Amino acid sequence: MASVIRDPNFTADVDVDCLIIGGGAAGLTAALAADEQGLSVLIAEREERLSGSTALSSGLIPAAGTAAQKRQDITDSHADFIADIMGKNKHSADLNHVERCVNGVTDAIDWLEERHDIPFHVLDGFLYPGHRHHRMHAVPEVTGAALVQRLEDAALKTDIFISCHLKVTALVLDDQGRVQGAKAERPDGTIEAIGAKSIILACNGYGGNPALVAEHIPEMKEALYFGHPGNQGEAVLWGQSLGAELKHLSGYQGHGSVAHPHGILVTWALMMEGGIQVNTDGQRFSNEHHGYSEQAVSVLAQPNQTAFNIFDERLCELGREFEDFRLAETSKAIFRAETIEELADKIGVESVVLAQTLADCDAFAASGEADAFGRRFDPNKTLKPPYAAVKVTGALFHTQGGLVIDDKARVCKPDGSIINGLYACGGAACGVSGPDVSGYLSGNGLLSALSLGYIAGRAAAFEQ
Ligand SMILES: Cc1cc2nc3c(=O)[nH]c(=O)nc-3n(C[C@H](O)[C@H](O)[C@H](O)COP(=O)(O)OP(=O)(O)OC[C@H]3O[C@@H](n4cnc5c(N)ncnc54)[C@H](O)[C@@H]3O)c2cc1C
Repeated sequence: MASVIRDPNFTADVDVDCLIIGGGAAGLTAALAADEQGLSVLIAEREERLSGSTALSSGLIPAAGTAAQKRQDITDSHADFIADIMGKNKHSADLNHVERCVNGVTDAIDWLEERHDIPFHVLDGFLYPGHRHHRMHAVPEVTGAALVQRLEDAALKTDIFISCHLKVTALVLDDQGRVQGAKAERPDGTIEAIGAKSIILACNGYGGNPALVAEHIPEMKEALYFGHPGNQGEAVLWGQSLGAELKHLSGYQGHGSVAHPHGILVTWALMMEGGIQVNTDGQRFSNEHHGYSEQAVSVLAQPNQTAFNIFDERLCELGREFEDFRLAETSKAIFRAETIEELADKIGVESVVLAQTLADCDAFAASGEADAFGRRFDPNKTLKPPYAAVKVTGALFHTQGGLVIDDKARVCKPDGSIINGLYACGGAACGVSGPDVSGYLSGNGLLSALSLGYIAGRAAAFEQ
């Protein structure tokens, strides 16, 4: 149970300048930034190893104007990136906060490359929905697990202390309301008291807490949660106890393409490059180019709460650039067929209907007209035999609402005052997606993790 203790006589077993709660991308980035400022840093991670949703993710971080983009001759700007984010969230997110994240993520990526030898490149084979330029940055392995590993390797070269199997259960404040430290629990029940001049909440959101999901995102209370189970919502619970401002708790990232029942993410690049989604009746039900996040809700609204991604061999080759897709292939989640009739037979869909659906898409591609859902089909990217399909469902990936912070990532109260010594970053802070699922632009998750982690870690030095 997450609690807040007010104890002017708090005595600690160990003292650090900066305690970071959570060892995902946000926590590790914050730790590296705080260490660089000369602070003694402890990362407390509840699980037995560093992972978080970051390690489960595709590890794609959107950023504009980075050295990596320049190396690849990609023209982009903060203004374009901000416009894309605000367009997707229909101007419901706080513009100052969006600017903070967009500026911060460029600084963070360039700094991780220069100072910590973490190389990034930009995926330039296709555009993610809603992004007008190629700006998805990845480490060479193009996985979230490798991103965590590289951040952890960088941290291990510093004086940062990482303690796993250490779940923070309580924040401790003095009688002036200033952060003093925290209490944390080991798996055997032992309690440790940690003194800290500053605490950075990097413990993500509440996707792993069914009660909080039911309260704030009722439409996803029955849905598969595909994020890290350690994300239990302590940042929200502590924030509520402290009278902090919380915003957009109904916002979240969904995904409409998780292989079912295999539970493997199937890249949305397939949809952006010509693939379609049909329901078990063989009919399309949405514009797949609006975004994979809101597609979770559309897929869950179909019979059996599932759909089929329909694509072809050209798109299989694209998919194989992603580890998850390769895993889906080896797990036999992908059906293959020489003809559309054979494919329909394999996936149990009426072949006449599926054939008509593909013929309609080809006709829209030839005419250049938008279909009933508003999608335009590229005549160079129509589906051709041999065909492929995968059964998918919609899932909750992570929550986007959270603590409101200021320019230094300090946790704010509704009157604009701050809670002294307390910072939030990544999924613990309110994101840039606004109050609902359709506001999530691809990459908004790691955008907040890296940018706000970097800002929080640097700012924590001012508390000392
Ligand atoms: C399948 C999948 C794919 C995704 N792909 C992308 C992508 O390509 N690009 C993108 O931008 N976003 C993506 N996301 C979202 C992205 O993963 C998250 O937004 C991001 O990882 C959040 O980082 P974080 O550091 O805030 O949280 P996490 O990485 O979840 O780290 C939080 C850590 O805090 C720990 N913790 C929690 N509570 C406590 C406590 N009380 N004490 C100690 N430790 C605690 C947790 O165990 C966890 O390890 C994806 C998400 C999923 C699920």
